[in-house]
Amino acid sequence: ALAARRRTFSGTGRTRDGHRVQLLANIGSPDEAGPAADAGAEGVGLFRSEFCFLGRDTPPTVEEQVAEYRRVLSAFPGRKVVVRTLDSGADKPLAFLAADDEQNPALGVRGLRTAQRYPGLLEDQLGAIATATSLEQADVWVMAPMVSTVAETEDFVAACARHGLDVAGVMVEVPSAALLAGPILARASFASIGTNDLTQYAMAADRLLGSLAELSDPWQPAVLQLVAATCRGGAAQGRPVGVCGEAASHPVLALVLVGLGVTSLSMTPRALADVAAALEVVDVDTCRQVAQLALAAESAQDAREVVRSRLPELD
Ligand code: PEP
Ligand code: MG
Repeated sequence: ALAARRRTFSGTGRTRDGHRVQLLANIGSPDEAGPAADAGAEGVGLFRSEFCFLGRDTPPTVEEQVAEYRRVLSAFPGRKVVVRTLDSGADKPLAFLAADDEQNPALGVRGLRTAQRYPGLLEDQLGAIATATSLEQADVWVMAPMVSTVAETEDFVAACARHGLDVAGVMVEVPSAALLAGPILARASFASIGTNDLTQYAMAADRLLGSLAELSDPWQPAVLQLVAATCRGGAAQGRPVGVCGEAASHPVLALVLVGLGVTSLSMTPRALADVAAALEVVDVDTCRQVAQLALAAESAQDAREVVRSRLPELD
């Protein structure tokens, strides 16, 4: 039954009883934008802008950035495109930024912290995004990676506002941001949970280390508790909370995330049809019930098993 539904995927995510969940694409380059739209993505939930410039020794000029961003925006006229500002450091070093001699790069100057070290970089990028936005029709949302505090949120939102970028949000990928989601979302327009890094930092397990795969598992109930805390903060402030980490691309886990209160799921385009198909066979109340079961589990494996056994519709 699921296979048949997959073929009829309409490009709009909703549960069986009509609860809407935006299904969006993660992309890393302008070349991926057209195929993402063709795969039925309602928009882009994560444009990893740093991927455009990974190989470079010199920073991209504003004009170069405008050209890249326009190519992404033009593939989604009238639709939501979430542009993440440069997320450099640790697993994604940018060669044109001086690499510091840090003992723990994952805990170092990375993500939005880079902007404090090189303020011109964020200014140029926001200027380029604003120019690209004014020349294209997409609904552009801007978000900062690796935000840890309310003050960082305030600074980022203010910087976006100076460029006329009114929809400014933050990624929640550090546990401190999940726990302070209420005050953070009193300032930011939205949050998007990066479950890859949120899992890494909640479990203190390097996301690149295969030998720690059991810990690096978004089904870990502690990670789900942080997702729930973020959703509570979003609900209290009336702000949308998405997920753009890999967790969003697993159909069963996606239902748990929806049940926790996540309002959009952004994923690799090839996962869209499977996640849409899983949503279509359950009611939102079932999502809420399985979310509570997962939160109450005491291990990732128990969470997976208890949720799976409650969802015979997926077999
Ligand atoms: C994440 O951390 O979950 C995320 C979406 O960002 P990235 O994988 O690019 O670090
Ligand atoms: Mg991340």
